[in-house]
Amino acid sequence: MSITVFSHPSCMQHQVTEIHPEEPARLSAINDQIIRSGLELAITQRDGQQATKEQLYHAHDADYVNDIFARAPQEDHIWLDPDTLMTPGSLNAALYAVGCGISAVDEVMQGANPRAFCAVRPPGHHACYDKAMGFCIFNNIAVAATHALHAHQLERVAIVDFDVHHGNGTEDIFTNDERVLLCSSFQHPFYPDTGADTISPHIINSPMPAGTGGTEWRAEVENRWLPALDHFEPQLIFVSAGFDGHAEDDMGNFNLREEDYHWFAKQMKTLAERHCDGRVVAMLEGGYDHSSLGRSVVAFIKGLI
Ligand SMILES: [Zn+2]
Repeated sequence: MSITVFSHPSCMQHQVTEIHPEEPARLSAINDQIIRSGLELAITQRDGQQATKEQLYHAHDADYVNDIFARAPQEDHIWLDPDTLMTPGSLNAALYAVGCGISAVDEVMQGANPRAFCAVRPPGHHACYDKAMGFCIFNNIAVAATHALHAHQLERVAIVDFDVHHGNGTEDIFTNDERVLLCSSFQHPFYPDTGADTISPHIINSPMPAGTGGTEWRAEVENRWLPALDHFEPQLIFVSAGFDGHAEDDMGNFNLREEDYHWFAKQMKTLAERHCDGRVVAMLEGGYDHSSLGRSVVAFIKGLI
């Protein structure tokens, strides 16, 4: 079985200032590596759909969504928080970033291709119920998960997040929703300084110190995440796939490598085959060093195939 890679040209149209790390070239780097690695022949590439306001309302405050639509600039740019800006292409990019996750859920639920990877931007996992944050406008993976719960009547979905930053927005959205098992590993202390104190039966946070490498990180996943995921028996596994924990990525101070992401993808594939007919939807989050980002995405996708 193969994998479908969803993206959309509009995701390149979220332009940012010259020094902003969350730039369109990230997606080009991924695409280049997919071609260079020969992976292009083994995957199906599709354009995702544009999300609707109604789909966003499942994970976000309606007033917040409407405010973003109203404020979207026609020229120049506005700042939603100190790190997150909107330019004329940003709203459309954000709607397609969310929409790719929705398309991916529909694809894996229909059974043709049980696994999907969404190469999208802006990223999503810092976007909270009612605010933008940390490069994120809408929470892509949270909307995709609520789409699976609402449109496909699932009762249990898992979201696993290995970005170097805590998935605080996803935690904010699902903090009182036990249909969602959330696992997040992140550098601590570090931006956004959340998650280390969370106590919840359905949220497993793994704060880890700067310098964490593959051995320690894999042990954490094996000891805490895999047993919890097995016990939860998810009907679909979502992955917030952020590659800024790579040793070559200066955004964080983890020392993960391509082989760690490959290993993780294989673990999720095995779990998904055991519990949910192999269904996995992964969505790009961080990853700002273009070379290691492209190589890591390829290694991750190969682990899912
Ligand atoms: Zn990150």
